[in-house]
This record gives sequence, structure tokens and C-alpha cells, in this order.
Amino acid sequence: MEITVDDPTTLRVLSVASEMFPLVKTGGLADVTGALPAALAPQGVQVQTLLPGYPAVLQALPQAERIAVWPDYFGGSARLLQGRLDGLDILALDAPHLYARDGNPYLGPDGRDWPDNGERFAALSLAAARIGWGDTPVPAPQVVHAHDWQAALSAAYLHYLSHDRPRPRTVLTVHNLAFQGRFDRRLFGLLGLPAQAYTSEGLEYHGDVGFLKAGLLLADAITTVSPSYADEIRTPHGGMGLDGILRWRAEAVSGIVNGIDTEVWNPATDAHLARCYSAATVADRIHNRRAVESHFGLPPDDNSLLLCVISRLTDQKGIDLVIDALDQLVHAGALLVVLGSGDRAFESQLKAAALHHPAKVGVQIGYDEPLSHLMQGGCDAILVPSRFEPCGLTQLCGLRYGCVPIVARVGGLADTVIDANDAALRAGVATGLQLTSVSHEGLMAAVRKAVHLHAEGAPWQRLQQAGMTGDVGWSVSAARYAALYRQLLAA
Ligand code: ADP
Repeated sequence: MEITVDDPTTLRVLSVASEMFPLVKTGGLADVTGALPAALAPQGVQVQTLLPGYPAVLQALPQAERIAVWPDYFGGSARLLQGRLDGLDILALDAPHLYARDGNPYLGPDGRDWPDNGERFAALSLAAARIGWGDTPVPAPQVVHAHDWQAALSAAYLHYLSHDRPRPRTVLTVHNLAFQGRFDRRLFGLLGLPAQAYTSEGLEYHGDVGFLKAGLLLADAITTVSPSYADEIRTPHGGMGLDGILRWRAEAVSGIVNGIDTEVWNPATDAHLARCYSAATVADRIHNRRAVESHFGLPPDDNSLLLCVISRLTDQKGIDLVIDALDQLVHAGALLVVLGSGDRAFESQLKAAALHHPAKVGVQIGYDEPLSHLMQGGCDAILVPSRFEPCGLTQLCGLRYGCVPIVARVGGLADTVIDANDAALRAGVATGLQLTSVSHEGLMAAVRKAVHLHAEGAPWQRLQQAGMTGDVGWSVSAARYAALYRQLLAA
């Protein structure tokens, strides 16, 4: 889809998401929904964000005003609250029977999906539709922008239940096609949608209910978070069963690459660093390196290539490749520090590797925002060997921090990192290294090349400088979202 229009009048958008930084975050989705409102403001777009009223959200909004009460809402009573936090305009769906649970937004303490996730996120989506119709004191938005399967039914409610009322335009952004929100068909009866919604043109998906599938069919526009991923998901290989629908809707699909919040991720002011620095004072990164080494119990070392991984520890992220290559990485002269959590087997294999190579490998299992900043500020390179990657954010943070990304040539990784091939190195435009294949050989070849460039010194510094002086912020992509919204309204 070509996005062209630009019109300066203010536009109201309701962003609907299951997470938003700094309130609740399990991954890149939260970074995007947290950063976009401020990035869109200069484009004349006012964003309100609708979130589930998880405990962390309600605690952060003690002054929130109750603006609607829905006594019988998916098995309990619900309130819509409106509040502000750090310049963000937030609507929270306070429904204790659905959201008053500590911990992860999607998983119970046993690590499994909450059994009522279907109801929990249908409720979020219906609230978005009610706001969209102007049924609450909030002025009706012109666009409802739903993020991922958790918000995808917004498009379905607005499609099937608007009747003669005007409805906002709908945008669905796919942050990761692997998560589709598929539920047993018995859920359908609880959704409050008419029977005709349960067909192959609507929610029915191989005899089940498909939230993302319905959103992909019914949203006015579909975006995903990089142009390459927009291409990949229309192929059988990358489409995860939904490629047929995405090809059918090809006219409505576009890729808009994510940025990062360059205030939160700014090495010149970052309070999580041992020493702040800029492109002009890159040598000061050594103080952060010392802090990283000391945190992970590695001896001080000025020369070896210090690699990091900051990631969910899953098959998607190619963590098995890192584990399999560990001995060879170390023999090739690299050191490795890992921060992440996920697959229990990967966690224990990584911990075992750290015990096996105590002076070369450090591992911390868990989620640690401050440590992730320090690692970006002190390590030489960040490894991202994903099998697929819709956009990826850690490589963007790496570019900004002079932590050179070594990435798989897929999705947003391919779109945001310029490989250090001979021509790009000569031209001074290379910003990182791309694996020629997501395999043991591909990973080791890239790491050996990185060790070599790093030891040479000057080429490595050019990679760092090109990355640090490039644009990884939101301004260009926010303008594209704004143009898309205006194009939908003009249509
Ligand atoms: P995904 O959303 O698929 O997990 P992204 O690269 O798009 O991957 O975004 C991941 C975000 O979460 C980044 O901001 C990254 O820094 C952060 N992150 C991932 N794992 C951890 C961790 N263990 N501790 C701190 N931050 C993490």
C-alpha cells in the first residue's frame, strides 16, 4: 500500500493495546505503544491509549476519573477510567474479574496462558468499539489503531455492530504474526457478536475463533513493523497460516519500521550507565564495560570482543544457535553476556555454559531494564540471530549505543542494519554485520568477522560511528502512520 497524503489538521486516534511502556511491558510492543503518542503529536495526531486495568496500570493512575460504568461486562462489572501519566493520555478498563492478577499480563503463575484470555481481550476490544462509537464521555476517535491479536477484535466489533452509526476507521498493526489469539469455538457465544460473524469471512478460523485472523480480514488497513516483514508474512514460509489472507488483503498491507524512544535510549543522559558518553566520547564506554564485567563476574579485559544477548530466550530468537556455538565463540576470542528469560531448557543450558566458562560467559536469567541499558553501553556487539523478526528493537538500541548489531538477515533486522560487506565498509555506511544464514555456520562466520574487525580497531570504530550518528528515532515512521490515518479518512 502506498502512503502519500499529508494534511495538517488534528486527528484523534484511539490506540488499543495489551501493554505500554512504562506501565506494563513484556516486549517490543510496549515500547512502540509507549513511544508513538509523543512521536505523533508533532504530526497533529492526538493519541489516547486504551489498556486493560492491570494492577500496575491502576496503581500508576491513582487520580484517574471514572467516566463510564458497565455493570454486566464479560462476567462482572467494569469501569472505564481516564488518567494521565508522563504526558500519556490513558483509558484503563478496570474489570477486576478479568485483570486484577499480578505478574505477566498473559500468563498465570504456572507459565500457561490464563484460561480466560479470550474474554479478557475481547473485553478490551469491545471497550475500544464503544469509545469508537462515542458511547462514552470521550470524544469519539476518528481512527481506532489496534495492536496485535489482543486488540484485533476491535475491528470486528466496529464492523459488525456499528449498524447505521458512523464508525472510526480501523488500523491493525501486527507486531508478531506468531501470536494469533486462537480459541475454542465455544468462546464465540460469549462475545456478543451476531451469528454471521462466525464465518470464514469473520472470526471462524479452522473451526476455532481467530482474533488476529478476524482483524486481518476486517481492519481497514493492516500495518506491520518493517517493510521486509510485510513481504515475508505474505509468503507460505513467513505467513504462519495467515499468508493467504494477507495476500488477499495485499492492497491494505504496509510495513512501517519501528523507532526507539531516543530520550529513554540516550547514552549521553542514561542514568543506568556507569558513564554517559556520545559519539565523540566513545572511548568512555570502557567504564560501562568494567561495570558489565563486574556485574557478570568476568575479569577485566580491554581487548576481547564482548558480545551480549538481551532477549526473550526462545526458538524465534535463535537462542539454540547461540548455545550450540558457545564453545566456538569463546575459542574464536569472544566473550558473551546474556540477559533474558523464556524457555526453561535454554535458561538452564545457558546457566551451565556460564559455569563451564566462568571467565568468558556470564548469564542473568530474568528481566532487568537497567541492566539492559548498561549492557548496550558497555558491550562491543549485540547478537540477534532471530529466525524471524518483525522489527526488533535491541539492534536499534545497539546502533544508538555503539554496541554493534550482529543480526540475522530477516525482517526488520535486514531493514535497519547495513552489513559490513566490503563496499559498505569502504563507503563508511556499514552499521553492523548480517548473518549470511541463520545457522551455526552463518553465526560463526559473522562472529569471526566481527572479532577480526574489532581487533583491527579502525573499521570497528567506523561501524560504531555510523550506527550512533544514524536516525533510529520515531520521526520518519510517525509521519508515515499519520499519513496512513489521513489517507484512510480521506478514502
Ligand atoms: P520482542 O518484542 O520480540 O521480545 P524486540 O527486540 O522487539 O523483541 O523488543 C524487546 C524489548 O524488550 C527491547 O526493548 C529489549 O531491550 C527488551 N528486553 C528483552 N528481554 C529483556 C530482558 N531480559 N531484560 C530487559 N529488557 C529486555
